[in-house]
Amino acid sequence: MLQSFQPKNKDIQIYVKDRLYPREAAKVSVFDSVVQGGDAVWEGLRVYQGGIFCLDRHLDRLHTSAKTLAFTDIPDKQQIKQAIFQTLKANQMFDDVHIRLTLTRGEKITSGMDPRLNQMGSCLIVLAEWKPLVYDNKNGISVITAHIQRNAPKHLDSKIHHNNLLNNILAKIQANVAGVDAALMLDANGFVAELNGTNLFMVKNGVLYTPHADACLHGITRGLIIEIAKENRIEIVERNLSLTEFYGADEVFCTGTMGELTPLTLIDGRSINRPKTGSLLHQLRALFLQKIPEYSEKIPLAD
Ligand code: PMP
Repeated sequence: MLQSFQPKNKDIQIYVKDRLYPREAAKVSVFDSVVQGGDAVWEGLRVYQGGIFCLDRHLDRLHTSAKTLAFTDIPDKQQIKQAIFQTLKANQMFDDVHIRLTLTRGEKITSGMDPRLNQMGSCLIVLAEWKPLVYDNKNGISVITAHIQRNAPKHLDSKIHHNNLLNNILAKIQANVAGVDAALMLDANGFVAELNGTNLFMVKNGVLYTPHADACLHGITRGLIIEIAKENRIEIVERNLSLTEFYGADEVFCTGTMGELTPLTLIDGRSINRPKTGSLLHQLRALFLQKIPEYSEKIPLAD
């Protein structure tokens, strides 16, 4: 699934550090940590009908990621919210919008790895674009298993949502070469971790399964689906799951901000049933869609 340039995004305003810039002028320094070492944390959020979905949960995850990386200058939640609201209002964006929120360690006094060279404060980027869901969540996606694995906590904890995305990018290249939509990534023990940009669930005999969040990102959508399942007495099991179990599942779907809940129809050439009316995926999607207004923080229209 290759995204295309949306002409509506040509003249957007982007927030960098402390103010808005037109798209062409929105830049970070070549001394910025994100350029020097991918030293930044990020979140992807969606705007639905005048509200930002799960905003607090995303900001909490951003904060934990930045704290883990020992950022010394983390803007507080209110400051980040104000920057997001300002950006959305300047662009008149209230629906069908994706926000790429990035916090870099900021500019260095000279090139180098040492965080003590960062003496100019962190750099917040709010990039809001008009963007439909990236995955086709009606017809589903096909995937292959990539040779490159997700990191274990002893290598680089997947609970840090950082900008070092190279293993996932290498996996995505493998999917592109194979002509499929995404790459399935295993953990260091060969169990299924997630797709390169979304989490995975499978259904077998009416029970919902998802891998432990040890090697996958602890996705906000994943967390919400687990909550929804528990609220609705759908049995949900978090455990190690092998590829064999996914090949033999009754339903498989992925979750994430980029595609909500999207069925997988092909894994490594093995076809997976398309979800039928009444399937667990359809039930969970309906319950998820009901939650969107309740879990979205309204964009304040007055200044
Ligand atoms: N896995 C990875 C590797 C991701 O990058 C993302 C989204 N950033 C997800 C899963 C889905 O997470 P969320 O539900 O919070 O969008």
